[in-house]
Amino acid sequence: MNVAIYCGSQTGKKPVYIEKAKELGEALAKSKIGIVYGGSNVGLMGTVADATLSHNGRVIGIMPEHLQKREIAHLHLTEIHFVESMHVRKKKMVDLSDAFIALPGGCGTLDEYFEVFTWAQIGLHHNPVILYNIDGFYDALIQHFEKMIEEGFIREEQRTILKVAATAEEILTIVSNHQDVLLKKGS
Ligand code: AMP
Repeated sequence: MNVAIYCGSQTGKKPVYIEKAKELGEALAKSKIGIVYGGSNVGLMGTVADATLSHNGRVIGIMPEHLQKREIAHLHLTEIHFVESMHVRKKKMVDLSDAFIALPGGCGTLDEYFEVFTWAQIGLHHNPVILYNIDGFYDALIQHFEKMIEEGFIREEQRTILKVAATAEEILTIVSNHQDVLLKKGS
């Protein structure tokens, strides 16, 4: 079981983002769930990777060659793949993952989150897409989802795709329920 982690290439201003990112990395490692992420050692991306590795977890990085200088590849991952473009990175992260988690981040994080969200909407995958709403960071986005549903731009039955967790424990519950479903299906 692997989960994709999407998060900021910066750490944000509040220490709670780092604290909660570390907590998630540790919880995933202890649950023997591997992470797939962008492969860099900067920002919250580096924080989650380090926390997972320091608890003997498995971390796979997918780094586009042209970003190597800007994001600085993490040199101590379980595996790192260098790929030719952002598109290949995003596709490979999806292919290797059984669930997707967005932590606080900027436009890159939102781009990745919305891509896997929309792919779930049109049935391209059936894996959970989770917003890790650390310290209410995504409250405004969640409100906007409500508006999109209310105004008829997201169908009511697609509401279930929006999964929000406030703690690492809630994330693990969603991921392990999904793991049970995959095991029952034999995939
Ligand atoms: P950010 O949330 O903007 O700090 O970016 C987080 C991650 O998203 C980093 O790994 C970036 O390389 C990646 N990213 C940034 N811009 C884009 C983009 N236009 N498309 C896809 N990923 C991006």
